[in-house]
Amino acid sequence: MTDKQRAALLESMWADLRKTEHGYREGGGGGVHWQNAQRKEKQLMADLLKQTAHPLVYPIANPDFHVIEGGLHETSGLNGNWAIDFICKAGLGIVAVEDATVTRFSGHDPSDDTADKNGVYGWTTYYRSTDGVYTYFATHQGRRYPTLRVGMRVKAGDLIGYVGDQRYRADHLHLGVTSKRGEADAKKRILAVAAAPRVS
Ligand SMILES: [Zn+2]
Repeated sequence: MTDKQRAALLESMWADLRKTEHGYREGGGGGVHWQNAQRKEKQLMADLLKQTAHPLVYPIANPDFHVIEGGLHETSGLNGNWAIDFICKAGLGIVAVEDATVTRFSGHDPSDDTADKNGVYGWTTYYRSTDGVYTYFATHQGRRYPTLRVGMRVKAGDLIGYVGDQRYRADHLHLGVTSKRGEADAKKRILAVAAAPRVS
C-alpha cells in the first residue's frame, strides 16, 4: 500500500465511524458501519506492521571497527544459501540481522582445530526470521553469546556471538541466507543485509 492509499483507507474508516455517531448502538457496537471501520482498521494495521516488522541491521556490531564485505557466494553444502563474508577483527560482536528465532546450532570449538571435515571453521548459529521466510546461517564464530539457546527469540541487533580468530586466513563472519521465495530472493536479501545500518 502506498501512503496515499493508506490515507484514503484511514479517511474512509473515519467516514464509517462518523456514521455510527448517532448510535454506537446500531447493533450494540456491532452495526454494519462499525464493522466496516474495524475491518479497515485491521487492514491498515496489518499493512503498517508488514512495513516495520523486519527492519534489517548489519551483522557486525560496533561501527568503530572497519568491516570489508567479500563477494556474493553460495554456502557450500547448503543448497540455495547465498552468503557474504564480513571480514573484520576477531572478537567483534555478531548480531541478528532481523527479528528471528534461533533454530539450530552446529560447528565446533575453533580452539580445538581450524576446521571440521567439511572445512567449516568455528561455531555456527542458524536463525529464522519471524515471518518464516528467511533462514540465516552465521558461521566462523569463535564463541556464541553464552546464554543463547535454540528456540530463543532474538531482535534485530541482539548479540548472538563473536567473530572467531582464524589464524591462517582473514578473520570473518560468513553469513548466508536461504529464502522460501527462492535463490534470487536470497541473493537480494543478503545484499540488503550488507547495506543495512550498523548498530552500536
Ligand atoms: Zn564465506
